[in-house]
Amino acid sequence: MEKGNVLMKRYDIGRLLGQGNFAKVYYGRDIKSGQSVAIKVIHKEKVLKAGLIEQTMREISIMRLVKHPNILQLYEVMATKTKIYFVMEYAKGGELFKKLCKGRLKEDVARRYFRQLVSAIRFCHSRGVYHRDLKPENILLDENGDLKVSDFGLSALAESKLQDGLLHTTCGTPAYVAPEVIGRKGYDGEKADVWSCGVILFVLLSGYLPFFDSNLIRMYRKICKAEYKSPSWFPPNIRKLLTRILEPNPHIRISFDKIIEHPWFMEGLETKPCDNESKEKEMILPVMTKSTTNTNAFAIISLSMGFDLSGLFIENDNKEEVQFTSKNSPSEIMIKLEEISGNLNFRVVKKDEGLLRLEGNMSGDCLCVDIEIIEFACSFHVVEMKKVKGDVVCFQKFLNGGIRTALKDVVWSWQGELPMVNDGD
Ligand code: AMP
Repeated sequence: MEKGNVLMKRYDIGRLLGQGNFAKVYYGRDIKSGQSVAIKVIHKEKVLKAGLIEQTMREISIMRLVKHPNILQLYEVMATKTKIYFVMEYAKGGELFKKLCKGRLKEDVARRYFRQLVSAIRFCHSRGVYHRDLKPENILLDENGDLKVSDFGLSALAESKLQDGLLHTTCGTPAYVAPEVIGRKGYDGEKADVWSCGVILFVLLSGYLPFFDSNLIRMYRKICKAEYKSPSWFPPNIRKLLTRILEPNPHIRISFDKIIEHPWFMEGLETKPCDNESKEKEMILPVMTKSTTNTNAFAIISLSMGFDLSGLFIENDNKEEVQFTSKNSPSEIMIKLEEISGNLNFRVVKKDEGLLRLEGNMSGDCLCVDIEIIEFACSFHVVEMKKVKGDVVCFQKFLNGGIRTALKDVVWSWQGELPMVNDGD
């Protein structure tokens, strides 16, 4: 994408704001309203190759639901055959850490940013989203100097993804990552984010990293032992808080609920910030409408597969084809389909790799249905059921006469329904 281009007839594209391995971020302007936005452009192939589409979809669904003053809002998701575009709130103040080039922050200023950071992260945790990749580039400032966490929910797209090896991040350093994440032991998302917040707090107050070594192995050791030295000017209550946060054992590391009760965090506040919870709740978009919210997320899948599912959310009883997504293997899906067709007295007239043709009698008419299993990511399939012969009413009867219920064990989501979020896997 080039400066001066127009995206989907809606946004003027401006200068490049920044870039990572997966994405480039451009300044954009909504042509109609004049509103400034940031547009993140992601190459679909890279996401597909990394097998991240399912997780990305799920997190986008969540992110479209949350609104918080310290989280960059995701306005919309668009896609073409090769690229995905995230249209986000524009953070005019740029990266928070650029401010640190001028030196460390005053204690009160650091505390304000830290509170905003904790507020954003607690809010997302309460909705089952963990950042896992908190680092300076992801902390931006808006025009009022308020902190905005970016990439919440898109963190799956970060180049420092766990299985890729954490030592290959942008800055080539695991400086912000918790010991248990480096150790790949399987970790608790909340406690890992607590650690990263501790490193960020240290940097805000001191102007330098708590764990640093030009040799990565030595740096790794320092992190795992939480070997750091606070500057002499750190007051005792900051030191105490940091000791509790930068605790290598995640089981005894302080939680966010305790951080917000800590005297240093509370200084100058009359009530615990969690009392804002009700205010935050009001900011969740009330109802997710099928036509606006899901269509976009599904469009990513549909366009990636080269066919358009944009009509997915239009309720239509005359449809001659339906799709569902599944996390089961093709052979499991096949077995289930054959079992169900037998129960309905339908014959398998053709069976190829990933394709099944069923024929049978439905209300006195001959009905023929093709079922195709399309692999999307290794554990994510789209199954398309299409009428090839017979009446559309018979096809609807075939679908609604028990087949939906019978397929429930292999269906992740039917077209038009929101994929399950937060199902714990
Ligand atoms: P990211 O790929 O999200 O890490 O973004 C790369 C860089 O682009 C960031 O470090 C920021 O400098 C810039 N950037 C990303 N998102 C925004 C935004 N919403 N507003 C302003 N700058 C941004």
